[in-house]
Order: sequence, then C-alpha cells, then structure tokens
Amino acid sequence: MSQQTSKIEELRELDKKHYLHPTSPIGAQQEHGPAFIFTKGEGIYLTDMSDQKVIDGMSSLWNVNIGHGRSEISEVASKQMSTLAFSSSFATFSNEPAIRLSAKLAEIAPGDLTATFFTSGGSESNDTAYKLARHYWILKGEPKRKKIISRTHSYHGVAMGATSATGIQAFRDFTNSLAPDFHYADHMSSEALRQVIESEGPETIAAFISEPVQGAGGLHIATKEYFKAVREICDEYGILFITDEVITGFGRTGTYFGMDHYDVAPDMMCFAKGVTSGYAQLGGVMISSRMHEDFTKLSTGTLLHGYTYSGHPVACAVALRNLEIIERENLIANSSQMGVEMLNGFKNLQDTFESIGDVRALGLMGAIEFMKDKEKGDRFPQPLAPMVVTEAAKRGLILRSVVFNGQDTLVFSPPLIITKEQINDMISILHEAIKAVETSIIQ
Ligand code: PMP
Repeated sequence: MSQQTSKIEELRELDKKHYLHPTSPIGAQQEHGPAFIFTKGEGIYLTDMSDQKVIDGMSSLWNVNIGHGRSEISEVASKQMSTLAFSSSFATFSNEPAIRLSAKLAEIAPGDLTATFFTSGGSESNDTAYKLARHYWILKGEPKRKKIISRTHSYHGVAMGATSATGIQAFRDFTNSLAPDFHYADHMSSEALRQVIESEGPETIAAFISEPVQGAGGLHIATKEYFKAVREICDEYGILFITDEVITGFGRTGTYFGMDHYDVAPDMMCFAKGVTSGYAQLGGVMISSRMHEDFTKLSTGTLLHGYTYSGHPVACAVALRNLEIIERENLIANSSQMGVEMLNGFKNLQDTFESIGDVRALGLMGAIEFMKDKEKGDRFPQPLAPMVVTEAAKRGLILRSVVFNGQDTLVFSPPLIITKEQINDMISILHEAIKAVETSIIQ
C-alpha cells in the first residue's frame, strides 16, 4: 500500500469514528466513510486526496461565489490576522473592516436597508431577525406582535428559531420541541399568506419571512406578482417583511440580491454565504433606516443581543475583498449570462430525456425536475435525482438532489466565475449521468 493510500485509509477510519457530519446520512457514512476528502480548491474545481478533480456544481453549499483558491483573499485575511485578529464589537467597541463593510452593504442592498447587525452565518442571522423584529414591536408598544409567518418549502437554517421557521417539515420533525409562534403559508400563493394573517389575528403578527428564490426546498421561483402582493399585504396589516437572501445574495441569481428581480424593498434582510464566498464565516441582518431610527429613538436600555463573533475583523476584511472581486470581475453580469447558458443546456437535456419534467433557473441557481408523466406531474416510484447525483459524481460533477415532499429535483449553483465552456462540460456530464440512470430504470 502506498503512503498516500494508507493515509487515506487512516483518515477514513478516523472520520467514521470521530466526525459527526452535519446534514448527513449517518448510516452510509459509517458504512462507507467519506466519499471525498478534499485537499484543494481552484476555480470551479475541487480535488480530493486520491487526486480526483471534480466540478463543484453547488459552489459547495451555494456559497463559494468567487470560486476556490483565491490567494488575494488569503493575503487579506493573513494581513488582518497579523494586525488585529479579533476585538469586541459589543457596546461601543468597533473596528474598521466591520464599519467599512456595513457602509458598503448599505450602498448595495435593496431599498433603504442601511444598518447591519453581524453574525457568523445564516441560521444566526435568521434567529437575530426574529428577535430584532419582536424587540421592535415591544419598543413600538405592540408587544402582542410576536408571531412569525414563513412559507412551505422554505429553509432558514438550524438554530432554534430558524428550524421553527423552516417550512420543510422534515427539518422540524428532526426535533420534538420547537420555538413557539411560527406559522406557515403556502409558498406560491399570496392569498394563503393573507388567510394565515387573518386566522392568526393581524395584531399578533410580527413579521413574514421569505427567500426570494427558495433554494434547499427545491428551487422554487415566485412570480413577480407574488412578491408585489406580499409587500402590499404586509403594509396593509403593518407586518415587517424579512427577506432571507442567504443563498440569493451577492450575485447568485444574476442581480446583486434576489429581491432586485422583484423591485420590492424589504424591511429587514438576512444574508451570509456569498458575502465572503465561504472564505470566512460571516452573516448578518440589515434593517431599514426607518427601523434604525425607531430603535434609536425608542430604546432606553441595551440592545441585548450579540454574538462573540459579531463584526469579526478578519471575516469583515475578507467580505470587503470578496465584494470587490465580484464587482471588479463583473461576476453578477456573468451569473446572469451563464445562467441563460445553463438553462439552455437544461432545455436541451429536457428535449433529449423523457424523464425530465421541468427545468428552471434564475441566474446561476437552477433545477432539473424529474417526472414520470409530465402532463399529470406523476413521479417515479424511486426518485431519479439521487441516482443522477451518484452518476454525476463518478463522472466528475458534484450536485445535490431534493426529495422532500415527494419532489425529485436536481439543484445547481455553480461558482459565478463559470465560463461557457465549463457550463458545456457540466451539461455533457449530466447528459451521460441521466442516460445511465434512464438506461438502468428501463432495464
Ligand atoms: N437561509 C437559507 C435560505 C439557507 O439556504 C441557509 C443555508 N443553506 C440558511 C439560512 C442557514 O445558513 P447557515 O447554514 O449558514 O446557518
């Protein structure tokens, strides 16, 4: 056995014994060990310990927007770490990267979102948003407003509030006690939102939260009318509208933020992932200037909410350079253009393969949905998407499948630096992978 092979074996055994993986099939992990132990990332590619190079078709977790292996970012991080690795942002302490990043975010965010509360990721951002919204209503003299409404098929993370807001039932069923005061409205109907508001009592609702494009729940793109109506309904009942841009922010959908497609301004916005492209852990919640003024005017005590790593100087310095790269390299325009190429590729596959029922994309966030009968929307007895994921990985493309709620969908979210040639490579691999699966089920 070569030295490298025995090192891989050693790591596989240690992984099985000691590493409890997030969102993972624990049985398969115990039986087979890790499928890939990655050692290197470069552009849209990841390489593992056995030198297998694969296309990162999901930007890992929808987050590595500028692609892997940017030495420019590691230089910024290293410089910041050696000058000021950490200092507190509690009370009146501050640091330059966090200040500059909050100002930059105010410049690019939709509507009049002008102030940012920093966190370390998406789940913390969601829990922060619910707490800030509720605190806002306490200050406004309407303490009964505490309920949060979210949408079916939504994903908002795994902290207690975020899990409770998540519309995908399976995530809520993972635990047997959730946070109170969360309610769900059908994800495609603004009238369903109105009905939930009416039945719960408008004077008890603090906020409505929605992803601009639902990601983990199966890539559902709402109509223009949906969000216009949602904004009107929230205004009518005096409810805060929170957008969860954790996936859709920072160019993913071909605009800076997902909500930019809808010309609708939220009162609050959660972000994470693409703000640093995964080079450091950072998230946040932005609030409107109106809310910021109200907090300032009405608050008499301390804003009693804060994470040790809120406004982490290294993470904020990394984010600033990441945003500079996104703008300098025109990655938002590339996301929009390559998104069209990707969707065209999907449409060609749909023309070729019987099993593809629907294809959709907004920028570089896309999906292929399998159906046994397109007219009736019937599914295959055994979902195809997970099998295609396996076949694609064998051929050098990493993807993800969504099978919640009887769905059978492949989701895509490649780095925003992807070229037309690389899109074609991705489509060719998919073609072979779907062909292999169709052949195996017809036999
Ligand atoms: N909101 C959305 C829309 C997400 O997709 C995710 C993560 N996939 C989260 C929140 C949670 O973010 P994190 O995993 O960074 O806590």
